[in-house]
Amino acid sequence: MATRRGPPKPAGQRREESRSRGPKKKSVAMQMGSPPSWTWGDRLVGVHCSTAGGLVTGIARGAALGCTAIQLFTKNNNRWLAPPLAGEEIRAFLTAWTDSPIRFIMAHAGYLINLASPDQKITEQSMESMRTEILRAEMLKIPFLVIHPGSHKGTSEGLGIRYITDRLNILLDESTFSNTRILFEGTAGQGQCIGHRFEHLRDLLAGVRDIDRVGICLDTAHLFAAGYDFRTASTYAAMWEQFEAIVGLKWLYALHLNDTTRELGARVDRHSHIGEGMLGARAFGFLMRDERLHHLPMVCETPKGKTDVEDRTNLEKLYRMTQR
Ligand SMILES: [Zn+2]
Ligand SMILES: [Zn+2]
Repeated sequence: MATRRGPPKPAGQRREESRSRGPKKKSVAMQMGSPPSWTWGDRLVGVHCSTAGGLVTGIARGAALGCTAIQLFTKNNNRWLAPPLAGEEIRAFLTAWTDSPIRFIMAHAGYLINLASPDQKITEQSMESMRTEILRAEMLKIPFLVIHPGSHKGTSEGLGIRYITDRLNILLDESTFSNTRILFEGTAGQGQCIGHRFEHLRDLLAGVRDIDRVGICLDTAHLFAAGYDFRTASTYAAMWEQFEAIVGLKWLYALHLNDTTRELGARVDRHSHIGEGMLGARAFGFLMRDERLHHLPMVCETPKGKTDVEDRTNLEKLYRMTQR
């Protein structure tokens, strides 16, 4: 199951070479500090990057932080739809990506989408929004699109999962042009959200006909909020044994690395900086040094400040963990 890494490179162009510095990129990069002192080697690690100022600025932000992987919203995450991408915007994005140290980009779908909804209007809007997300990811050559499975809104987990897979099957049938793999994100289990048990993730995968076009993304803050503890060597091992038995590690395609302010099993989604929340540095150390996960893209979705110092600090902490 090979995954695409970066857009196609023009012949003879080397990745590390020539970081193009367009005016826009420069202005974003100049708000950032100097390049970090560490390098990720073959690891795909980074942060969710804002695209305020244009999609291409997300790449500049990630590059300034030395990210080898980033996550982006390809459109406003609180809107259903977006104007079509202009050819020029796509070309600028792909060129900036090629010229950057970023080797992997994943997209996160908008927050309004609820494929589990029992409401017809919301369902239609969610389907249309997903079509937009799938098309944009394909045009930008983004290999993964992370979605939240959805909220059943009081029907049942079983019916919610069936709605999600039935609707996703339609979307996948409609988009045979797409090379983007859709990843169900494990959730914290807030309200009636599906995806906080490994069994939900198993059943979601089981309901998709075109299984090679889907996978799982796990979020550390959501895992802990959902009641999965991995703060000690024994609980860490037990959690992955459980995941392997119920879902299968081969279906895990990406990780979101976030600490959380809330206690184990709180079913509340509150991200915090790496090592500063209830999970603590030890749990992230297990993850960063787990060879089974080395090939996976890992991105932080930790709180942002006015500068990139928070992202920088989180990435540095994660890097140090790989060095022990
Ligand atoms: Zn998410
Ligand atoms: Zn997440």
